[in-house]
Amino acid sequence: MLTGRTMGTSYTVRIVNCTGQCEQDMARAIETRLQALEHRFSHYQDDSELSRFNRHSTTAWFPASTELVAVAQMALEISRLSEGAFDITVAPAVNLWGFGPQDLDHKYAQPPDDTSLQLARTAIDYRQMNVRHSPPALQKTNPALTLDMSAIAKGYAVDQLAYLLENAGFSNFLIEIGGELRAAGARPDGQNWRIAIEPPAVTRGIEFIVQPGNNAVATSGDYRNFFEHNGVRYSHAIDPASGRPVNSQLAAVSVIAPNTAQADALATALLVLGLERGMALATQQGMAAVFIERDGAQFIAHRTEAFSSYLLR
Ligand code: ADP
Ligand code: MG
Repeated sequence: MLTGRTMGTSYTVRIVNCTGQCEQDMARAIETRLQALEHRFSHYQDDSELSRFNRHSTTAWFPASTELVAVAQMALEISRLSEGAFDITVAPAVNLWGFGPQDLDHKYAQPPDDTSLQLARTAIDYRQMNVRHSPPALQKTNPALTLDMSAIAKGYAVDQLAYLLENAGFSNFLIEIGGELRAAGARPDGQNWRIAIEPPAVTRGIEFIVQPGNNAVATSGDYRNFFEHNGVRYSHAIDPASGRPVNSQLAAVSVIAPNTAQADALATALLVLGLERGMALATQQGMAAVFIERDGAQFIAHRTEAFSSYLLR
């Protein structure tokens, strides 16, 4: 098993039938690829491509890598699908609530004042961003726009590592970055990969074991990254409509989909939409999703029919 750190979190990669020299070679290739990806999508790195685009405060087209354009395009599609619940232009609100690159230790954050919040909201709207494929470029129709790709970049990186492994001739592996993962083929013992989806910090309660096949599993929750102020829990998932952290009984959403970038973004989109609207969208689109709702100290799971088909019985 290969492990390391990337994008502010940890990663693990299991490649079946690859040990010794093979494992060392793959470890190096994976590290190199991840560093290149961070150099595109990180908003922690001042010289990343994303940071350069964020500083580009004009409406002129910004020549970008095909990779940045591809991820921006995917993000826009999920914004449209979720009617703006998922929105990578949410960056100013993320920063304001202390979840941005300046505040790695946001445990002591406080809710912002209304004036700052209203100002931030004027620069949140995915419809003010355009993508062009040839030549690849991005455009802000509002020069104040800035992007935060944290809710899709980890998933995209998992997909890129999957291509790397496939191109190196492997068909049995499991890749995980910060809880977003993708399985392929079978485990070393020939059995299907099994993934546990657990609600936060419960010992009793529900746990799902899924067999995702050659698919991705992504989870968005309000429990891994949050701060508390005067007894209120503020999650790092922001509702772009209000500029405020989502505040519902929904603790987590997991999505199973062929593509990790999509699963990653959809999990955030459904979490922001909340149980009712999220479940309606997931059902209508035939998505495999499970919604974990808080009920006092307990949790209630709501799953779509498509999700149930992956459950291990
Ligand atoms: P999780 O750890 O729950 O999977 P992610 O790390 O995938 O969550 O995504 C959460 C991050 O995405 C936040 O820290 C923030 O940077 C960004 N974000 C917050 N709200 C939204 C939103 N509505 N749309 C897109 N990105 C968001
Ligand atoms: Mg996510």
